[in-house]
Amino acid sequence: MAIHNLGSINIDHFYSVPHLPAPGETLAATAYGIGLGGKGANQSTAAAKAGARTVHIGAVGPEGAWTVERLNGAGVDTTHVSVLETPTGHAIINVDATGENAIVLFPGANLALPFPKVVSALSEAAPGDTLLLQNETAHQEKAARHGRDLGLRVVYSAAPFDPTAVRAVLPFTTLLILNAVEAEQLCAALDTTIEALDVPEILITRGAQGAEWRHRDGNRAFAPALSVKAQDTTGAGDTFAGYFCAGLDLGQKPQAALAWAAKAAALKVTRRGTADAIPSAAEVAAFGT
Ligand code: ATP
Repeated sequence: MAIHNLGSINIDHFYSVPHLPAPGETLAATAYGIGLGGKGANQSTAAAKAGARTVHIGAVGPEGAWTVERLNGAGVDTTHVSVLETPTGHAIINVDATGENAIVLFPGANLALPFPKVVSALSEAAPGDTLLLQNETAHQEKAARHGRDLGLRVVYSAAPFDPTAVRAVLPFTTLLILNAVEAEQLCAALDTTIEALDVPEILITRGAQGAEWRHRDGNRAFAPALSVKAQDTTGAGDTFAGYFCAGLDLGQKPQAALAWAAKAAALKVTRRGTADAIPSAAEVAAFGT
């Protein structure tokens, strides 16, 4: 079994600034940091660190080679990450003294991967494998349709929320993953309720309120959030999604996978950073025991 993740790879540039820049202002940052980011890279990192065979399908530009090495270091198979002429997707993240941020995102190579590359990567997938998608790449609808036709479990982490993309991908989705805000946005956009959504499985994460999974056959599972001293919740949702998918891929029942993902996400929340702060299965096992 394997998880094939058509996902974004971003370079995150963090600038500490005294205040967020005003129009026309030039501002000196007091600190700078760089890291691997993007929902796709985060979720691949989490799934691989959980121990699932994880194949990332994506693209970077010529200056993004280190991000691919970083994914490799986390155990992700990067055979199907293309190097294109388009610059690597990146985020300019200004954070002021109060923690408020302002972000400029350039999707870059994430939107430039040709669809035949996706088809070629999925030619190695076997029925029952997982195809994981988010909303930071191109080709979600075509990939989801192709994945469904190949007999894959299509898992759609519908973030950042985009009503057009959700409408297009939902008919091919096996498991839809949303946070609480996205669940509300989806219901408003489709003028429906979560209960009435026509999708086999739904996972909703609710921050410190925990997470719930429901199957349309009536099965339900719930995992409360662990009580931790939160340092940085960035990437908690991606850690949860990656661990939950990995748990199911490794043969766990939904309740067990949910509890495992909650533990992994809670441990992530105690650490600053995103992809690099996602814990390994061994760290999760040792956490809280
Ligand atoms: P993000 O966008 O910050 O990555 P998200 O909004 O997609 O996160 P959340 O629902 O906030 O996702 O969090 C995902 C899961 O992480 C929660 O279901 C919970 O298990 C865990 N989690 C999040 N915040 C906390 C917290 N403060 N304490 C413990 N666990 C948390």
